[in-house]
Amino acid sequence: MAIQRTKEETYSTGGNPLSGNDFDGFGVWQSDTDRQAEIRMKKLKVAVIPGDGIGPEITEAAVAVMQAAAKKFELELSHDSAPAAAAAVDQGLPPLPEHTLKLCTDADAILCGPFGDPRWDNAPPSERPERAKLILRKTFDLYANLRPVKPVAALIEASPLKRDLIEGTDILIVRELTGGLYFSEPRGYGEDDAGKYGVNTMRYHAWEVERIGRIAFEAARLRGKKVHSADKANALESMQLWRETMNKLHDTDFEDITLKHVFVDNCCMQLVSDPKQFDVVVAGNMFGDILSDVGAQLTGSLGMLPSASLGKGTPLFEPVHGSAPDIAGQDKANPLALILTVGMLFTHAAKRPDIGEAIDNAVAKALEKFRTPDIARGNGFEVVGTKAMGEAVLAALEG
Ligand code: NAD
Repeated sequence: MAIQRTKEETYSTGGNPLSGNDFDGFGVWQSDTDRQAEIRMKKLKVAVIPGDGIGPEITEAAVAVMQAAAKKFELELSHDSAPAAAAAVDQGLPPLPEHTLKLCTDADAILCGPFGDPRWDNAPPSERPERAKLILRKTFDLYANLRPVKPVAALIEASPLKRDLIEGTDILIVRELTGGLYFSEPRGYGEDDAGKYGVNTMRYHAWEVERIGRIAFEAARLRGKKVHSADKANALESMQLWRETMNKLHDTDFEDITLKHVFVDNCCMQLVSDPKQFDVVVAGNMFGDILSDVGAQLTGSLGMLPSASLGKGTPLFEPVHGSAPDIAGQDKANPLALILTVGMLFTHAAKRPDIGEAIDNAVAKALEKFRTPDIARGNGFEVVGTKAMGEAVLAALEG
């Protein structure tokens, strides 16, 4: 079956000057080395949205690391902050103020803290301030969610799995974020002769599979050159098309990458029984959702997980955790997930994996001596707050 480009693939890029390649909005997924050099000389413009709860505290620490890393690696960086979600509503603004959206549209990357406030816990989803994040994802069609799963050496004991099983694990889970079972129509409730029912649909067009598959293959090219595509082709037509499209894409554009197919249920099992076999794992929306939570267990800590959402417009980088209102404003929050997120921002938005790696290494070094309360299991380290942990990463980066 031929893969044909459709209207939906003609992207509008926002103001992202790193785009203009095959994957508008994906500065990182460019393989033309001359162009990479050109990108490296450009200024990186970041829109910062601190968010709610612990957001402002961890953002302060992360922005300091972002500035220090840019300075060390001689990358011209400019950044500006704007509110969204409850922080915006508290200023009498809508959850996603126009100014904030414009800042994001004009930027090369969005660094985003968590959204959410307990004052709206009982409000219907459409009235919750955190829907600002959904608007951002939708506006920029952020269809690819990248979640690295790489246990930090100092925290290996925090994983429920044995050390020898997870040591050396380095996986990138690529989840399709805007299609599949969570979005396809028809969906809803109904009633027939057999009684009430609920219905959802899993529909994937070939172009949707192709664009997420391309992200996975391109990512593998920068890593271990291996892609596992998790599907359920033995039971679902949509997943047969998924597999067929992945094969076709591989054969036409990515023969240098090893492609393996794995049924998603087996993939869950393999992730915990033999995680080191994986490099890049790509999956549809629901399967990717489940796989990334299984993968998260390898690291053993919510406060350590970064993510990147990439699409047609400005890419968005955020930690996996929420706004942690129970510890907000107490200097107890772990800033490392957002700091590692800054590393992803440099890797993917500025195409500077060298800076991303330097930040990962600085975090690992800081953890040898310091821990925030959420990861303070065991002995041989000092328990510190958000500020001191941020300073420890800065010192490791600059040292
Ligand atoms: P949560 O992730 O905020 O907190 C769960 C637990 O983990 C809490 O005990 C919290 O103190 C702890 N925790 C989370 N991040 C931490 C960190 N960096 N350092 C130390 N401890 C940390 O999840 P929740 O309590 O279910 O949700 C709170 C709010 O966050 C809700 O309004 C929810 O809607 C929102 N939320 C937002 C996002 C997002 O913006 N991407 C994601 C999840 C939840």
